[in-house]
Amino acid sequence: MRSSCAKGGEMPVIELNFQANTVLCLLEEAGFPAYLVGGCVRDALLGEAPQDWDIATGATPEQVTQACKTYRVIGTGLRHGTVTVLVGHCPVEVTTFRLDGVYADHRRPQSVAFTKDLTADLARRDFTVNAMAYAPQTGIIDPFGGAADLAAGLLRCVGEPALRFSEDALRILRCLRFAGTLGFAIEATTAAKVWELHESLRYVSVERIAAEWRKLLCGRAAKKILLEYREVFFFLMPQLRAAYTPERWENACAALARLEAQPVLRMAALLQGLENSDAKALLNDLRQSKKEITHVLQLLDHARRFSSGDAHGTRAQLARMLGEIGLERSREVLALRGAPSSLFAQLLACAGQGVCTSLAQLAVDGDDLTRLGLCGPAVGATLRRLLEEVLEGVTPNEKEALLERV
Ligand code: ATP
Ligand code: MG
Repeated sequence: MRSSCAKGGEMPVIELNFQANTVLCLLEEAGFPAYLVGGCVRDALLGEAPQDWDIATGATPEQVTQACKTYRVIGTGLRHGTVTVLVGHCPVEVTTFRLDGVYADHRRPQSVAFTKDLTADLARRDFTVNAMAYAPQTGIIDPFGGAADLAAGLLRCVGEPALRFSEDALRILRCLRFAGTLGFAIEATTAAKVWELHESLRYVSVERIAAEWRKLLCGRAAKKILLEYREVFFFLMPQLRAAYTPERWENACAALARLEAQPVLRMAALLQGLENSDAKALLNDLRQSKKEITHVLQLLDHARRFSSGDAHGTRAQLARMLGEIGLERSREVLALRGAPSSLFAQLLACAGQGVCTSLAQLAVDGDDLTRLGLCGPAVGATLRRLLEEVLEGVTPNEKEALLERV
């Protein structure tokens, strides 16, 4: 899974995982050319563990199925020449070398044709760093200068950027996503065409936009890209344009960069300037799950309510928040607020000392109040009032003191 980039011009060696190696060997034994391609070659050369292993081959899907018949083979994208070979539980995608036909809708080719030519297959790929192939016998095959761009930290379209972006508008957002995750610069012509053509992102489905957006937000250079290409994101998400002045956008992006790389947290950071109803609409538009939308809105709500003031008030707020949303979410709220480590320590202390944060922890319960003669809704109302007093530190959480108050 690692690459050892040999010194002195030696060929880099990519250590394949067992599953990818198995499929490559089976195809080669059956007499077909087969290479690792795309993201796994890029990531391995960067010294990072590839997320998935893609293989390109001269074999047709039927020939791949036959060659790998000792394993389960699923026809995941037969129309585009893709099958998935399951070696153990690890899926390896195998796609026949392919030429894309004419693009009519700014998104997908109307037809694809299989080819025996690896270079033609690499030429249809989006960026030079994604257009390299590797096989142990041949080493890296790199007709478009991907390795040099990788070393220089540069994203460059394969071929003419204007053409490649008009063929498939999703590439515009992939470009920003890779720049954000890899921390790469965008080559000048490619960048110019991102600007010029970004409105054609309207042809891309929200699901694809959302998938790229989530990856970008978690990137190491997300802040830089969000700032530089603000207009592209404002175009995609009009709620952002309505809510942010350039300065406030900068603050939101800076807050995002301080957080751990977790989509929900980072989305919350970026939506801090929006009314909850607008944040909800934006996340709904992007078809995010109900669970995550609720999570984001909860964080926004509590972050807004939380303000650290005097020590006493702060402790009460921490206790209240703990009672309402638990320790993990409370930590997220503090992170979102950019709270100092002393507040995290206080929160942990509150949780660890078993400080009363909820009705369940109150030293009196409904039965105690009923015995004192209270009944109906007055019982619940009184318990909540007592909890408030305990949270505020006005009354200690002791049975006698609480009954005295009642
Ligand atoms: P990730 O780390 O997100 O998986 P990746 O580069 O592997 O990044 P995939 O979406 O898995 O991205 O695609 C695999 C490969 O297919 C890419 O590396 C690229 O060569 C090619 N590819 C994917 N999408 C496009 C596209 N829209 N246009 C051209 N080539 C593409
Ligand atoms: Mg991939």
